[in-house]
Amino acid sequence: MTHYLSADQEYLKETVRKFLSRNLDPYITDYERRGHFPFEIMKDIQPFGMVGGILDEAHGGMDLSFTEWTLLVEEAGYHWASLRAAVNNASGVSLLLRELGTKSQKQEYLEPVMKCERQGWVGITEPDHGSNVAGIETRAVKQGNSYIITGSKVFITFGQWADFGILVAKTFSDTCDGKLSLFIVDKDSSPYIIEPVETMILRSTGTALLSFDNVKVPSSSLLGREGEGLKSILSSLNKGRLNLAAGSVGYAQAALDKSIEYAKTRKQFNKLIGEFQLIQDKIVEMQIRTDASRALTYNAARALDEGKLSRVECSIAKLYATRAGFEVADMAMEVHGGIGYATDMGIERIFRDSKGAMIPEGTSNIQKLIIGRELLGISALL
Ligand SMILES: Cc1cc2nc3c(=O)[nH]c(=O)nc-3n(C[C@H](O)[C@H](O)[C@H](O)COP(=O)(O)OP(=O)(O)OC[C@H]3O[C@@H](n4cnc5c(N)ncnc54)[C@H](O)[C@@H]3O)c2cc1C
Repeated sequence: MTHYLSADQEYLKETVRKFLSRNLDPYITDYERRGHFPFEIMKDIQPFGMVGGILDEAHGGMDLSFTEWTLLVEEAGYHWASLRAAVNNASGVSLLLRELGTKSQKQEYLEPVMKCERQGWVGITEPDHGSNVAGIETRAVKQGNSYIITGSKVFITFGQWADFGILVAKTFSDTCDGKLSLFIVDKDSSPYIIEPVETMILRSTGTALLSFDNVKVPSSSLLGREGEGLKSILSSLNKGRLNLAAGSVGYAQAALDKSIEYAKTRKQFNKLIGEFQLIQDKIVEMQIRTDASRALTYNAARALDEGKLSRVECSIAKLYATRAGFEVADMAMEVHGGIGYATDMGIERIFRDSKGAMIPEGTSNIQKLIIGRELLGISALL
């Protein structure tokens, strides 16, 4: 299906695909087996604009449009979900720092993130609060020139390895009575407890449970204004949804390409399996779902490029593309038969990771409630 990309955009996609096919694909199975993420690749892909390319040049970005950034994320997803997640993390952290950071916060954190010299995490989810972001219980209490942080954050991507993170906490001070604020927590100056969390998906992203037991951070670590964290984090989740939609288009395209190749080489009953109508039916259904996901995802990116709020567009893209990505991966498993379960083939990895895409940045149920609220003007989100 044609999506009318410009010649430059097609060239960008193609160049990234060639680079990742050569420099990443042969090693992914080993990285996954070891739970290792090769951070050096972030520096290699930086010139394409994958890490914070949507930031302006003054902040180390490339002034890319969301449409161009979406193409890059799609390519990241095409090769490896853990790379897609790393791009999402770096972009989420850098956008928040660009929007809210002071000059010195930008120097200390944004600049090294843009140069791929430091990694950050974003900590919203807690053991008792996931979908209900406003309900989180981690507290930051002002004491003199510091805040004391108590609580825990779970499923934190790159939490095991990142140098610092952006944490959401209920804030208590003379001027703030429990509203959410964002804090930069630096592992070196404000140590916290890190425990690995093993997951079925994103096996190379150092997922962690982070515990903060009276961790002291200086007042200067407040990111943005006290009590205004919820708005910033919700806007950041919107872009995360676009990332997951784009990544899911990549997962689906990879599963489809592998299935077409397999259907044209695997023989049963003295025939190529691609000659069987039931296999062709699957391939066609996979193509349709991939195309529809891509159209909705590019539509959301275009809405962001036009400066629209884009909440519905991003939620629709995330809801549809993540679900379709999993359906396509499921069909790819069937086309491949037994060999689809062999880790070297990469199909079972896409199957796992595409299923997982339905959870972070708001589950599918939550996306439906966001879309329903806009359509009806009635909130079913409790
Ligand atoms: C691999 C991985 C990486 C992650 N990375 C990060 C990260 O870096 N930072 C971070 O902060 N978080 C991260 N998360 C957490 C993720 O964002 C949450 O898991 C997600 O928001 C859902 O929260 P929960 O798991 O607590 O589910 P819950 O909120 O407990 O939901 C459980 C079920 O109830 C449903 N539900 C909840 N509320 C409603 C409602 N009002 N109406 C209908 N249904 C409802 C949900 O849809 C879901 O089906 C990650 C998760 C995973 C798996």
